[in-house]
This record gives sequence, structure tokens and C-alpha cells, in this order.
Amino acid sequence: MQTAPASVTRLIEELAELPGIGRKTAARLTFFLLRNQLDLAERLAEALRELKERTRFCSVCHNITEENPCPICADPGRDHSIICVVEEPLDVLAIEQAGVYKGVYHVLHGVLAPSEGMFVENLRIGELMARIRSSDVDEVIMATNPTSEGDWTASYLLTRLRPLGVRVTRLGRGLPVGGDLEYADVVTLTRAFEGREEI
Ligand SMILES: [Zn+2]
Repeated sequence: MQTAPASVTRLIEELAELPGIGRKTAARLTFFLLRNQLDLAERLAEALRELKERTRFCSVCHNITEENPCPICADPGRDHSIICVVEEPLDVLAIEQAGVYKGVYHVLHGVLAPSEGMFVENLRIGELMARIRSSDVDEVIMATNPTSEGDWTASYLLTRLRPLGVRVTRLGRGLPVGGDLEYADVVTLTRAFEGREEI
């Protein structure tokens, strides 16, 4: 039986590790690059190398950044007394693109989901508590996704935040239940921020 060269098999295996890409798609992408897109392959390799070399997590909000602290945390024009807690860096991107929010963020890097091995210590929760204790924070906006894990994470955080005497709000209910913040449109996000309620 003829097998593909090791370098081809390797790329297929690496691509198949990506979310949403099975072995079949990985093989198709690999052969697409091989057949007629070697320029693209080089640009991709370069982009991947840059991604790894240049990006890190902001030591304040844990968003992905090329500078530390990130441009949002370093911006004196933002309201540092309001922290919007999100699951993923993509959520920051979605909210920033909507242009509806002028506070700062805290990226948890996931939600509580013990069945998937996501516990309190796997998220940036300790960092959030320390941050709130050491700075003047008036409001924490829970902007975890409106899924059961997102809601559960928000309730858990509320129990930790309440003793600190900080106002905690949850994004308005305009967001589609079970949906992802990152896919919400500008109108929906604006409504969700404006309609946020204390919990
Ligand atoms: Zn930051």
C-alpha cells in the first residue's frame, strides 16, 4: 500500500487537531496547498510563526495582545472602573467591533464545565478577584455566553464577587439563548449592553 510522504502526513495530522477540521478536510486542505498554492503555504507558515512569536496574554485582562499591557488596558480614555467578563478573546473582538462599550475586559479563557475538565483553577478567576481587590472597580458585567455553562459561571462568579461589594450586572436578554456572543450582531450587542441588569 502506498502511503503519503511523511511531511504530507504530518501536515494532515496537525491540521486535523484544529477544531471543526476532521481528517478528511485536513487531507483536502493539504493537497490543495500542495497542488497549486505553495505561495499560500509559505505565507501561512510565516503567519503562524508570527502568531507564536509576537502574541502573548495581557497580564491585566488576559486578552491576546502584542503589547503588555494590551492597548485597551493601557488606554486612559477607557473607563477602568467597569470590567466586562468574557469567555474568550473572540468575545472582546465582537464587542469592540460593535463599539458599544468603553470599559475594560477580563478574559476567563473558558467557562466552568467540570465534565470537560474545566474547573475554577483552569479559568482566570483568581486573577479577576485579585484585580478587583486591588483597584477601584464599580461594576463587573457578566458577558459570558447565554448557555447553561455561561450562566452557571456567571452565578458562581456572583457568589465570589458579592462579598467584595461590587455591583454585578448581566448582559440584557436580547442575546439568543444558547448562542455565542461572538456571533451576535451590533444591534443585538448594543441592546444587550444597554439592557444589562444588576444580579
Ligand atoms: Zn489587557
